[in-house]
Amino acid sequence: MNAAAPHAAQSEAERVADGATPTAGPRAPDAHVRAKDGAARDPQGSNFLRTIIADDNRTGKYGGRVVTRFPPEPNGYLHYGHAKSIILNFGLAAENGGVCHLRFDDTNPLKEDVEYEDSIADTVRWLGYDWGSHRFHASDYYGALYAFAEWFVTQGLAYVDSQTVEEMRATRGTLTEPGINSPYRDRTPAENLGLLRQMRAGAFPDGAHVLRLKIDMASPNVNMRDPAIYRIRHARHHRTGDAWCIYPLYDYTHAISDALERITHSICTLEFQDHRPLYEWVIEKLADGAELERPLPQQYEFARLNLTYVVLSKRKLIEMVEKKFVDGWDDPRMPTLVGARRRGFTPEGFQLFAERIGVSKSDSWIDMSVLEDAMREDLNARALRRIAVLDPVKLVIDNYPADVEEDILAPNHPQKPELGRRALPFARELWIERDDFNESPPKGYFRLSPGGEVRLRYAYIVRCIGVEKDAHGDVTVIHCTYDKATRSGTSGADVRKVKGNIHWLAVAHAVPAEVRLYDRLFAVPFPGAKNPSGRGDTEVLALPHATIVAGDDDDDAESAERDYLDDLNPESKRVITALVEPALVGAAPEERVQFERHGYFVADIVDHDARHPVFNRAVTLRDSWSKGTLG
Ligand code: ATP
Ligand code: MG
Repeated sequence: MNAAAPHAAQSEAERVADGATPTAGPRAPDAHVRAKDGAARDPQGSNFLRTIIADDNRTGKYGGRVVTRFPPEPNGYLHYGHAKSIILNFGLAAENGGVCHLRFDDTNPLKEDVEYEDSIADTVRWLGYDWGSHRFHASDYYGALYAFAEWFVTQGLAYVDSQTVEEMRATRGTLTEPGINSPYRDRTPAENLGLLRQMRAGAFPDGAHVLRLKIDMASPNVNMRDPAIYRIRHARHHRTGDAWCIYPLYDYTHAISDALERITHSICTLEFQDHRPLYEWVIEKLADGAELERPLPQQYEFARLNLTYVVLSKRKLIEMVEKKFVDGWDDPRMPTLVGARRRGFTPEGFQLFAERIGVSKSDSWIDMSVLEDAMREDLNARALRRIAVLDPVKLVIDNYPADVEEDILAPNHPQKPELGRRALPFARELWIERDDFNESPPKGYFRLSPGGEVRLRYAYIVRCIGVEKDAHGDVTVIHCTYDKATRSGTSGADVRKVKGNIHWLAVAHAVPAEVRLYDRLFAVPFPGAKNPSGRGDTEVLALPHATIVAGDDDDDAESAERDYLDDLNPESKRVITALVEPALVGAAPEERVQFERHGYFVADIVDHDARHPVFNRAVTLRDSWSKGTLG
């Protein structure tokens, strides 16, 4: 939890700087993620959806076509959970030479907006996916949906119900008791058609009638108890304007939209499992009546992403933004994808994460460290190395001439020599991290202490010969001598062995920069839960890589026993003025770098420029949370 913690990464950084073979990343990637049943799953391997699609392709069910869709409602910004769905849908299509449609499910005129649509489209594109010409809206189908509604009425399969909302609720039945037929259920098709047309023409106020499918009020599945498919709503829609005053409901709209777009595999989250019979009823009836073409789409459900240390419910995300617990939707701490981008997370990191967690049919919780590790691994491969001193203290090399400066060449990437080196100016007066000096070092402290030696990375070995202090007894200047023969890369460099290897910046060339040290948004794994640090009903599954916990999604207000806002991490954002090397001033907004020994940072996409450099911490080099969480 120590936000700056330069020592956290020391051993790895030291080893690399000393020429040891670097490991692939802060943690080597795992070959396997272990599923609940203990079976190893190859991350690049199969999942039940891949198997189904391969089977369908083999049997020719869809003539080899694979058409999926991602159907967001444009009523908010996309979050980490949506990334799982996007990567799954677009990924399955791409793997099979198919297409994935981007379809805005805009059936609720009161909550939706173009602002959200634009952000959603940008985010899907940022994640690396292209829907080509297949960008659709449920509202594109309002005409067809209405025509089908008239068809259902004429077939005697739908009726206009004039009960009040309360009456309908009271006659709906319960999970154990059947519902009661509406007194309007036996209206004739002709009467229903007349009423429906009047509804559509605006003859009635909101709530006066609804159109319901005539299925079965006694069905054990409440979704099949004459579900409403149209309601009256005198509201302007952000795309269709005032053309409609009746709007179709989700289940009806979704099934028909899929069928009209000739979707093959309609993949959604588990809560829609109980809606599948309705989905099928609607499109089967229309196909039986030759209103829709076969083969029809098939719905499949997978477990939604539940992630520890964040909340993914739209309601809560909106609340945090509106009550200003965060700095907007793209606050780097927010689990939104615009936030992730601003934090420096990468699309490839999300893809790696999605492969690692796999796709399953049972609900589970994924520990935040799995996502962070995926980001580390991707950033480790792509981020150039740079130096920043976050908490500076001055070091003076007494025997280094005051009028001399030299260029020290430092590799841009220790594993990728082809990325070259850049010059770091070296001089008598340097900044080092306050943490890298300790007057009374504990056992095993390998950095600088009185009389001790340390390597200034890529440069010389120095020995501490004294300190200056202020009135409070705090060290203000550390005095050293250097040994000219120990310069890195020369034959004398290896003669003396020192264990510590610290970074530095020349005082004359270091540039102040605003650095925002972000950490996890919540301080506990299950914000708002009765037992926020480890819920009683969860089963902890040990993974070689990190932790997946089985259990239910209790994201809902009903099941939360405490206020999730009480679990916010007060240290999730700390803003400091740090000193950075000159090369960082020219960083382009959104350029991602590693601050050596600190973590991965990104030049802020909004606020960074050469006159006022701003860097956000994406993730530290090592997980400082794993102890004490989730057992
Ligand atoms: P709401 O239904 O409350 O508006 P939502 O998060 O379900 O919110 P949608 O816009 O309906 O938002 O979601 C679009 C798609 O993303 C759906 O197919 C949905 O199943 C999927 N999705 C949403 N949340 C998750 C999640 N946590 N994990 C995986 N997929 C998700
Ligand atoms: Mg939804």
